[in-house]
Amino acid sequence: MAKLTYFGLYALQHRGQESAGIAVSNGRQILVYKDMGLVSQVFDESTLSSLRGHLAIGHSRYSTTGASTWENAQPTFRPTGHGSIALGHNGNLINTHELRELVAALPGPADELDLQRPQGEATNDTSLVTALMAHHPDGTLEERALEVLPMLRGAYCFVWMNEDTLYAARDPQGIRPLVLGRLERGWVVASESAALATIGASVVREVEPGEMIVIDDQGLRSHKFAEPDRKGCVFEYVYLARPDATISGRSVHEARVEMGRQLAREFPVDADLVMPVPESGTPAAAGYAEESGIPFGQGFVKNAYVGRTFIQPSQTLRQLGIRLKLNALDHMIRGKRIVVVDDSIVRGNTQRAQVRMLREAGALEVHVRISSPPVKWPCFYGIDFATRAELIANGIDVEEIAHSVGADSLGYISLDGMIEATKQPAEQLCQACFTGEYPVPLPDESQLGKHLLEATLTSPTMGKALPVLNNP
Ligand code: SF4
Repeated sequence: MAKLTYFGLYALQHRGQESAGIAVSNGRQILVYKDMGLVSQVFDESTLSSLRGHLAIGHSRYSTTGASTWENAQPTFRPTGHGSIALGHNGNLINTHELRELVAALPGPADELDLQRPQGEATNDTSLVTALMAHHPDGTLEERALEVLPMLRGAYCFVWMNEDTLYAARDPQGIRPLVLGRLERGWVVASESAALATIGASVVREVEPGEMIVIDDQGLRSHKFAEPDRKGCVFEYVYLARPDATISGRSVHEARVEMGRQLAREFPVDADLVMPVPESGTPAAAGYAEESGIPFGQGFVKNAYVGRTFIQPSQTLRQLGIRLKLNALDHMIRGKRIVVVDDSIVRGNTQRAQVRMLREAGALEVHVRISSPPVKWPCFYGIDFATRAELIANGIDVEEIAHSVGADSLGYISLDGMIEATKQPAEQLCQACFTGEYPVPLPDESQLGKHLLEATLTSPTMGKALPVLNNP
């Protein structure tokens, strides 16, 4: 089971590249193995073969609450009054401050509630949820989960387990995707359908917004813990999800191609070559070329072994990543008027470097086309874009952005055009980073922020960085 989970995680590596972990149960005990790094760096044959069991969950982390540290790597692990629990989270909660108070107020022996045990000095929202779930002195974990889930606000897709049962749940807005699949002899839940295909599972359906699923030796049962109020992240279609994913019935690849076609209709230009910023700009560039009739070609070569620059946590790494990631194909570019298609502009540093690279390679003109509207607001639901002040589109207009990145022209797809391409009703999509209208109301600014819990928790054993097997 650990190997199957490993391959599933491998398929989902794009969703988080900072740390990875797998928890397995053999029915009697849970073992967790986690460490910093890519899935392929964290696990090898010998660690995987030591993780024996018929039940497993896995996680690859992209940090949005809590620093990128070993202690914050997932799955989280915690003993309960009746065994133990391991939990993995995709998303970001916005009532972390409130949850911290709830955890502190839980009745029971102090050491049972101590956030320092055994997850160390974890400072993520996920560990709070694990602590709340783990506290069920009288009822079952299933009953406790149905009490805890309605307390949470924000974006969450969870998978969790105790020794004999697997659970999954999705927030009432369904902000992040979560799908249920079937193996020949078992069930699987994953963030994207592409992970199911990778491990030979068939897609059964999406986990519904506001639904909790329980899988044990009796089979699968479902609970509705909240009324669905669907607000799926539109950015999953633009950038985040793999192109071979299907979200709410819409192929992500097809949505991106259509965004490119729409971009060509909205912002046509006379040019000699349409080229993508690989890889996430590729489908939109193909759509732009198809609609405009301008030849499509590769002008950048990407080093496939460098992670997505956008997803790395620090600005310094991002800037370094740009140079590590792309090289220009001079013979494709020299003497040509270029349309370069990308999925988004966040800070503008990436595009500035790319435009410079194209000019150095001999481009006559560089026209930048973006398959999402200007990102003007931060995301609090699981993408660590930047603060508002860092977003290039906050406060300056498109012409000024074009000037700032050095492009001859710049065109962003319209909000309506992007939404149309997803084939989802606009009212069922979160578009907050473009509009500032947050579908799950935000608390006071003082209660938000990636490092909220780092201000309140002490770190008695900082520096621990070795993988351990958490053995209850
Ligand atoms: S704010 Fe943007 S990135 Fe965040 S969930 Fe909403 S649409 Fe997605």
